[in-house]
Amino acid sequence: MIKAKKSLGQNFLIDKNILEKITNIAKIENNTILEIGPGTGNLTSYILKKKPKKIYVIEKDNELTINLQKKFNNEITIINEDVLKIDETNLFKDKVTVFGNLPYNISTEILSKWIINLKDNFWFECLILMFQKEVADRIIAEFNTSNYGRLSIISNWKLKIKKVFDIKPEAFSPKPKVISSVLIFYPKKNFIKIDNPYNLEKVTRIFFNQRRKMLKKPFNQLFNGDQKVLNKLKIDLTLRPQNINLETYYNLVCEYEKLRS
Ligand code: SAM
Repeated sequence: MIKAKKSLGQNFLIDKNILEKITNIAKIENNTILEIGPGTGNLTSYILKKKPKKIYVIEKDNELTINLQKKFNNEITIINEDVLKIDETNLFKDKVTVFGNLPYNISTEILSKWIINLKDNFWFECLILMFQKEVADRIIAEFNTSNYGRLSIISNWKLKIKKVFDIKPEAFSPKPKVISSVLIFYPKKNFIKIDNPYNLEKVTRIFFNQRRKMLKKPFNQLFNGDQKVLNKLKIDLTLRPQNINLETYYNLVCEYEKLRS
């Protein structure tokens, strides 16, 4: 009997209907699949039923890795590593479809890492990921809402995101305290070119440092009050950070890069 480790965010999905529903979100047959954090292999078994071309899994827990090896033999390729330390961009021959019931304590870190490291040729077809609902709501938040912030801006830069469904705590063992949401992320064909994605992190960090205050102070800190940028992007400095739409943030980062080049 495997004891779930809280430190590794282990809540195993046990509801058969939900497991089936997740594997119906994207085409699996003949595609290469990457699963993040397979745990006891519940979702892995459902993925295998749909006949993927190949399936890779990344699992940090050594005990669970041994268990997965016994359970699946050569049916899956196990990478016994920390997903945060892996560079997925050159790991696979084919574009992969990613499934992940992510450990909630590092879910946003995993997503940010992927987005920041993305090259123009995407290494995945789509990402089907489970988050705690509160985090999913921040990822898909529209501007002018209280959930809108850095996570929404960074996530939506190169990815089109859709919510698929919510999952009740009862679907997991051990039962988490919160509701979960499944999101699907597709590569965008067109997105605003930013040379260094860390500038997107930096600019949004400075703007959202004090989310209730007017834009004047962070703007001056980054652009030294440059009126040309304000006019070009039609920004009203009496607004709050959440009142600026996604595109304007990406354009602001481009202007910031131009200023520094
Ligand atoms: N997918 C399984 C399921 O739905 O039943 C388990 C999901 S559980 C929420 C998260 C899984 O991610 C666990 O198996 C845990 O050991 C693994 N994990 C936690 N941190 C990890 C990391 N940094 N790298 C890779 N796997 C990790």
